[in-house]
Amino acid sequence: LIQLAIPLNFIGFVYREIRQGLTDIEQMFDLLEVEQEVQDKPGAAALAVSDGAISFKDVHFAYDPARPILKGISFDVPAGKTVAVVGPSGAGKSTLSRLLYRFYDVQQGTITIDGQDVRDVTQKSLRSVIGMVPQDTVLFNDTIAYNIRYGRPGASDEEVTAAAEAAQIGPFIRHLPEGFKAMVGERGLKLSGGEKQRVAIARTILKSPPILILDEATSALDTRTEQEIQAALDVVSKNRTTLVIAHRLSTVISADEIIVLKDGVIAERGTHGELMQREDGLYASMWSRQREAVQAEERLKQVRESD
Ligand code: ADP
Ligand code: MG
Repeated sequence: LIQLAIPLNFIGFVYREIRQGLTDIEQMFDLLEVEQEVQDKPGAAALAVSDGAISFKDVHFAYDPARPILKGISFDVPAGKTVAVVGPSGAGKSTLSRLLYRFYDVQQGTITIDGQDVRDVTQKSLRSVIGMVPQDTVLFNDTIAYNIRYGRPGASDEEVTAAAEAAQIGPFIRHLPEGFKAMVGERGLKLSGGEKQRVAIARTILKSPPILILDEATSALDTRTEQEIQAALDVVSKNRTTLVIAHRLSTVISADEIIVLKDGVIAERGTHGELMQREDGLYASMWSRQREAVQAEERLKQVRESD
């Protein structure tokens, strides 16, 4: 009986390992499915980054030909600067980041990095210079350490720890019984949106890319989490060319330029100060609406606390 129990146990172990493997493969296919949309040109060269300057010129794009999403978008993100894109949900903000990362190809116009069209270089080289912190980070069913180290597989334990600290997720990890060895994902620890985003930021800090794409989460984060994420993002975006899909006031205020996207075109552009001066403008009205929402929330809190 004992002899039989051991192999059965072993089979159980192998089965679990395979299942684990399968889930990751499924995740990979989900990612690949998006990537299959584009192919490297025969003999495509590697992207050569000098400063990391990004340029969108007359970019047109539609997922469905009957419904154009971007209708002639032009803007630059100069080397080392931060450009924030704001606008209503569904305006095409995340689409801009997907085009830069080349999950899809533009249908008209060009996107260049240091003068090289992203369609002319290998996807591998393009993606190696861009750090992407997406809206919804998918974590691997593996340890926290693995998920962070994914940014640079050769990184040492010390580097992984330092990246976690810089991303403001260190204290959270240290409080876990298994620390960096804790399993995350479907069969492990369920992390909140803010925690997942900080894991993605730690990953990006390790990768240390010259270009950053940040798609800030829209989900309501509490003020403290938001401040922690902001601090983490400030660390990673310093002196890097950054395209940020912005929801946080602090990001937008300090951006070198703000692009307001609406109905497929750039409705307004400028610095925070410039845009706020246009009192009947879209940007100014967005902030007054947000202020009202924040004030209403505060009033509600006061009412609850006085109960
Ligand atoms: P935003 O980030 O500004 O909220 P997105 O760029 O994600 O908007 O999406 C712009 C529009 O394109 C939305 O109407 C969205 O529903 C649509 N869209 C996004 N992804 C796809 C897709 N893979 N296939 C078809 N339509 C899509
Ligand atoms: Mg989006």
